[in-house]
Amino acid sequence: MTDHQKLKVLMKERGLSYHDIANITGHSYNSVKSMLQPNQELPRWVKLVLYVWANLKTSKGGILESKLNEIMIEITKPRKEITQRETISRAMHVIKCPKCGSICASASEMKDLPNWSICRNEECDY
Ligand SMILES: [Zn+2]
Repeated sequence: MTDHQKLKVLMKERGLSYHDIANITGHSYNSVKSMLQPNQELPRWVKLVLYVWANLKTSKGGILESKLNEIMIEITKPRKEITQRETISRAMHVIKCPKCGSICASASEMKDLPNWSICRNEECDY
């Protein structure tokens, strides 16, 4: 079974919709939908959920549901907002992650930059 198939089974078994996942994780409905597209690799937090779920099913007593919810909330915690803007050149303004240095947003005009962004580098926990 592929991870996407497992996710489908999990969602069906738990009665979860994309809306529920959006509510639990704090992601928007549209980003949940795009993150879980079948033609894309699943995000790591989903892989962890699948792993925990698979182990729950095989272990005897299993973990309490509240514990599972706790884990879900912990691993999907929204990242810190980065507000520090930087000018690279006259036509290149960016918001950079202070930890890993990756560019989180860019625009040709400072005023077009969003007020904040988040680091999308999965290796970075900022
Ligand atoms: Zn980062």
